[in-house]
Amino acid sequence: MTSPSATTRLAAVIGDPVRHSLSPALFNAAFAARGMDWAYLAFEVSEPHGADAIGACRALGLEGLSVTMPHKRTAALTVDRCTPQATALQAVNCVQRIGDELVGHNTDGAGFVDALAEDLGEDVVEGARTVVLGAGGAARAIVLALAERGAAEVAVVNRTEARAAEAASLAPGVARIGRRDDLAGATLVVNATSVGMAATGDAAATSRFPVEPELLHDAQVVVDVVYHPLRTALLDAASERGARTVGGLGMLVHQAAHAFRIWTGEPAPLDAMWTAARAGVAERSAT
Ligand code: NAP
Repeated sequence: MTSPSATTRLAAVIGDPVRHSLSPALFNAAFAARGMDWAYLAFEVSEPHGADAIGACRALGLEGLSVTMPHKRTAALTVDRCTPQATALQAVNCVQRIGDELVGHNTDGAGFVDALAEDLGEDVVEGARTVVLGAGGAARAIVLALAERGAAEVAVVNRTEARAAEAASLAPGVARIGRRDDLAGATLVVNATSVGMAATGDAAATSRFPVEPELLHDAQVVVDVVYHPLRTALLDAASERGARTVGGLGMLVHQAAHAFRIWTGEPAPLDAMWTAARAGVAERSAT
């Protein structure tokens, strides 16, 4: 990458914490692969400063922002307009600046379905009976995307049932509150909880399951949105039971690929982004 100059176009991620974000590595690799004079930074922005940081896009002429916790809802309320997905989710993970106008996108759901299609080489969503474990930000984006892409049914299973009801309400007629029994008939199972994710100070975190592995079977595709570690205990158990499995890194790469296209108008260099993502996870696992 050439050194940034006064004409370098800038994008950035805001979040708190943001120190471990893989986004700078992904986007800078993508800009370098395309030979573009762009650079991508990371700003640790505390919750009260979220709206100011988003507004600063205009003042500083940033081309776009990636938005992560805890600012996704603030971003939805701060931008000038949102896409239909971001409006439904009331969460923005990608801000696009068009002149002085800020447009809020949510690319998580599209990133999820693109990652599935890339990994499996076929559409396993259309007509599928699906179970989504979890009802947080990632789960909500996935519920909406599954319904938009033609899933026959989305059963939302969550520790806190009220949140499952809220997530299911994003896709009336397709999504509903689910129970563990729904796994038997499901062809697509998605873990969108944080269970199984490596956690500082909790050595046992990566051996936990979001659902009993005995409920998984060989007619299923099992997806884990957790990508640290890359191979979760759930994916290993699902493979042992004959299911096809997909890890979470693809969703990260593809939601970023959407942001790249939104900001630059160019196709995203997926190979470079995958390489940077894998290297970032390997580095994180080594520390
Ligand atoms: P979130 O909004 O905080 O939601 C967390 C979800 O996990 C909630 O449904 C919560 O249930 C559930 N949960 C947490 N601890 C649990 C436990 N001990 N037992 C059962 N359920 C538990 O988080 P998020 O932003 O949706 O992120 C969820 C996971 O997805 C994280 O691991 C994150 O890294 C990953 N993620 C990956 C990508 C990607 O690109 N691959 C993108 C976004 C997120 P309650 O509602 O009952 O609290």
